[in-house]
Amino acid sequence: MTSRVFCNRCFQPPHRTSRFSLTNCGHVYCDICLRKGRKDECLICKVPCHTVLLSKHTDSSIQAFFMGIDGLCTKYSKETSQISEFQEKHRKRLLAFYREKISQLEESLQKAVLQIEQLQR
Ligand SMILES: [Zn+2]
Ligand SMILES: [Zn+2]
Repeated sequence: MTSRVFCNRCFQPPHRTSRFSLTNCGHVYCDICLRKGRKDECLICKVPCHTVLLSKHTDSSIQAFFMGIDGLCTKYSKETSQISEFQEKHRKRLLAFYREKISQLEESLQKAVLQIEQLQR
């Protein structure tokens, strides 16, 4: 995710020791610039904000903002196919349950028909 991260104030890309944070107003700052500003206030918007430290442990939905489009496509197509597989499995279970129930009902219906036939003789 580092290649698309740069500080919105000094425009430095990350280097080995620098850490970057994302504000809830959508601005990215390096640690140095973040410390220059007022605590919990965005340097650009001048409004109260809170920040999230960007790292490989950051929530994947936030990391997605810094991914390339090709990476994003891979990520979401994988997630989509996992979800559809999951839903398909559940649908099949439900279907199997109803098939079983139907065959049980058919069986007892046949028995009832036989009993009626025997009684009528
Ligand atoms: Zn900076
Ligand atoms: Zn801002």
